[in-house]
Amino acid sequence: MRVPEKLLALINDENSFFISTHINPDGDALGSSLALSLALESLGKKTVLYDRDRVPEFYRFLPAHEKFSASLPSNGQPLILLDCNEPGRAGLDDVVLPYSAVIDHHETVRDFGDIRWVDPHAAATGIMVYYLIKELGLEITQNIATNLYTAIAVDTGTFRYSNTNSELLRVCAELIDSGADPASISLALYEAWSERRFRLLIEVLNTLEIVDHIAFTFVTKEMFIGTGTTAEDTEHFSNFPRMMEHVEVSAFFRETDGAWKVSLRSKGSVDVARIAERFNGGGHRNAAGYKITADIKTAKEELIKEIQDV
Ligand code: 5GP
Ligand code: MN
Repeated sequence: MRVPEKLLALINDENSFFISTHINPDGDALGSSLALSLALESLGKKTVLYDRDRVPEFYRFLPAHEKFSASLPSNGQPLILLDCNEPGRAGLDDVVLPYSAVIDHHETVRDFGDIRWVDPHAAATGIMVYYLIKELGLEITQNIATNLYTAIAVDTGTFRYSNTNSELLRVCAELIDSGADPASISLALYEAWSERRFRLLIEVLNTLEIVDHIAFTFVTKEMFIGTGTTAEDTEHFSNFPRMMEHVEVSAFFRETDGAWKVSLRSKGSVDVARIAERFNGGGHRNAAGYKITADIKTAKEELIKEIQDV
């Protein structure tokens, strides 16, 4: 994997960086940003980490997660945007950004950024940050290794999806040698749910409806209130209906203010990134998302139409 010379030059020339990632951050967003921040600080650089949304409780095992803040820096440092490739995805629409670099692996690419390193073949942004850190000649500390391993684990379904390959496993082997602990990371990711979150999952699975190999589930604001949960608790929910043998697409609808946030998951040949794109969203072949303002019945019908079209 080739790291752009311009990105290396930017890192060498500047002393302070504004690191940001997408809203509703997942393990790749958080892990790749934290690893980059820790690596740059080991080079003597300053970093400010921003996310519009707070770090979900179940990701607070990530070393240095407390570096994330929801307040914007005011000094005009260059932005390094990770795991997304447009400022809107990071909640930065209205922010003046003098100079920006993008490190991302999504298939739906906008043309934002003075430096754009977007590689849809990379399984995770975390693996790109690994190569960047190596290229800079920096040590992979245990804290960096734990963040990068988590980033890669989350975006490969912990080495189950088609983006898992030998090169990626070799990188992860090195991360383990540097101190990442696969068992404790898996425990934190998959076996440390709050009871509230589990009860919300039960309610969501009870909404299941299957039409034409598409599995629909949804969550409403009342369900959040009733279980004492929030949007962050729904990460992974869209994966569950995909477990059924005849389901090709899982569509999970989450109620937000006056709209629905839709999470799509597919297996096999259906490219959900292309479907999400039709609704101005984006993502990867087998995992994508978008937002739609409509009642849920209309939103479902429009989605069925687009899937049948693709
Ligand atoms: P999730 O369903 O977990 O929110 O997202 C699945 C994938 O689709 C992630 O890679 C995420 O970054 C991407 N994604 C989700 N929602 C959107 C969206 O509204 N716009 C874009 N461009 N990508 C999205
Ligand atoms: Mn990612």
